[in-house]
Amino acid sequence: MLCKVCESLTGKKLFSPGPVIYNGKYWIVDHAYPTTISGWIVIVLKRHAEALHELIPDEINELNLIQTISIKIIHETFRSKKEYLGCFSETERHLHIHIIPKPKSLAYEYRVIESSHF
Ligand SMILES: [Zn+2]
Repeated sequence: MLCKVCESLTGKKLFSPGPVIYNGKYWIVDHAYPTTISGWIVIVLKRHAEALHELIPDEINELNLIQTISIKIIHETFRSKKEYLGCFSETERHLHIHIIPKPKSLAYEYRVIESSHF
């Protein structure tokens, strides 16, 4: 039985309603879904691996290239002030990295985390 990421990778049941942005040798780049942040993408490993230390050098090299190019495109397209990378692989069998742009126009109340919250 295929996991839900494998189903999406094979086209059986897509995660995102949009087309895959890039289909590499080891990774695909897809739209994060659902989200209200324009430019939020996710880079998904095609094979099952859940930790960064499981990656082989060729997978890391392709990931580095994809991240570098994606960050530039996101910045130029969405005029992001910053871009954040996150790898949270607690529920999926496919390691995946999120690239989340921080818009320049982000409202002040969403930019500041008050120290009283800690
Ligand atoms: Zn799978």
